[in-house]
Amino acid sequence: MRALKLDARRINTISWFVRFTFLLLLTPNSCSANAVWTAYINMTFYVGDRMLSELGETGIFGKGSALKKVSGIIVPPDGKTQHVCHPNTNFSLGKGRETWFALIERGGCNFTQKIQVAVDKGASGVIIYNFAGTGNQVFPMSHQAFTDIVVVMIGNLKGSKIFRLIQKGIRVTAIIEVGRRHVIFMNHYLVSFAIVIVATIAYFIFYQIRKNRMARIQNRRWQELIADLKDAFGQLQLRVLKEGDEEITPNGDNCVICFEPYKADDIVRILTCKHFFHKDCIDPWILSHGTCPMCKCDILKALGIQLDAEYALELLQEIMLEDLNDSESANDQETNNEVLSATPYSLE
Ligand SMILES: [Zn+2]
Ligand SMILES: [Zn+2]
Repeated sequence: MRALKLDARRINTISWFVRFTFLLLLTPNSCSANAVWTAYINMTFYVGDRMLSELGETGIFGKGSALKKVSGIIVPPDGKTQHVCHPNTNFSLGKGRETWFALIERGGCNFTQKIQVAVDKGASGVIIYNFAGTGNQVFPMSHQAFTDIVVVMIGNLKGSKIFRLIQKGIRVTAIIEVGRRHVIFMNHYLVSFAIVIVATIAYFIFYQIRKNRMARIQNRRWQELIADLKDAFGQLQLRVLKEGDEEITPNGDNCVICFEPYKADDIVRILTCKHFFHKDCIDPWILSHGTCPMCKCDILKALGIQLDAEYALELLQEIMLEDLNDSESANDQETNNEVLSATPYSLE
C-alpha cells in the first residue's frame, strides 16, 4: 500500500514537473523566478461515511508566500464568482474557530488583492486555482509578500473539483507542506534572447559562406574569360616588321591608332579582316571597342568572344598585370627573348 502510494507520488511528480517546465517557458510571471518551491497537498474529504485522501506534489508556492506547513478546512467564497476581488466578499465559515484556506479562482484582479481580501477575513492560507482550460498547469505567482500566510497555486481541474465537492456539502480539509526547491537557470526572455543570437550568428555564417562561394564562382568565370581572350588573341597573327617591308617605305601607312609610321622591329597584329596595327595599340583597342578601327569588323565576335563593355577596362588591366608578371619571370629565365621583355604586355 505504501509502495503504491510512493509510486503514484513519483509519477505525479514527473508529470507535474513536465507541466511546470512547459509553463515556465510560456508564462510571463515566471520570468524573474530564480527558485520556486513546490507544495505537497494532502486533501481529505468524506463521501458518505468513507474518508478519502489525496496526496500529491500538486501545488506551487507564490513568490511572496510563507513557507511552512498549515492545515485547515477549505472554504470557497459565497456568491457566483470565486474571484474574491471585492473586499466585502464573504466566506461561510463553520462555528468552530479552526484554521481555514480560502479557495479562490484566478482572474478578475491581481493575486495580491485576492490574498489581501482572504487575509482580512482571517484565512491562514490561500489556494488559488488557475484559469479554466489550463488543465493542471501551475506557476509561481508574483504577489506582495505575506510573511504569515501560505499562498499556493493549484491546477484548474483540481481546484474546480474541490469547489464542486464543497458545493455538494462535502467537507474538504487540506494539509499543505513545503515540497522541493527548483532552481530556474534560464527564464524565457533569456531563451528568446539566445534564440535571436543563435539565429543572427547562423544567418551571418550562411551569408559569409554564400558570399565566398559567389566570389569563387565569379573568380573562376573571370579566369576562364581571360583564358578565352588569350586564346582568341593567340589566333590573330603577329608579325615583326623588317627593313625592306613595304609597310615601312615612305609611302607606307601610319598606324591609325597612334598615327605613328611603322618602323623596323615594330610588332604588328593582323586582324581577321587582314588590317594590321601596332600590337600595343590594337590590343587595348579591341578590348574596349571590339571592332577594327578601319573597317568596323567585329573582331571579338569573329573570335567567338562576348564581352561586356563595362568589364573591358578592368579585364585589360588584369591581363596587363598578369602578363607583366609572366614576362618578368620569363625575362629572368630567358634573357635572349627580347621581344617579350620589351613588350609591356602580351596577349599571347
Ligand atoms: Zn600604333
Ligand atoms: Zn579591318
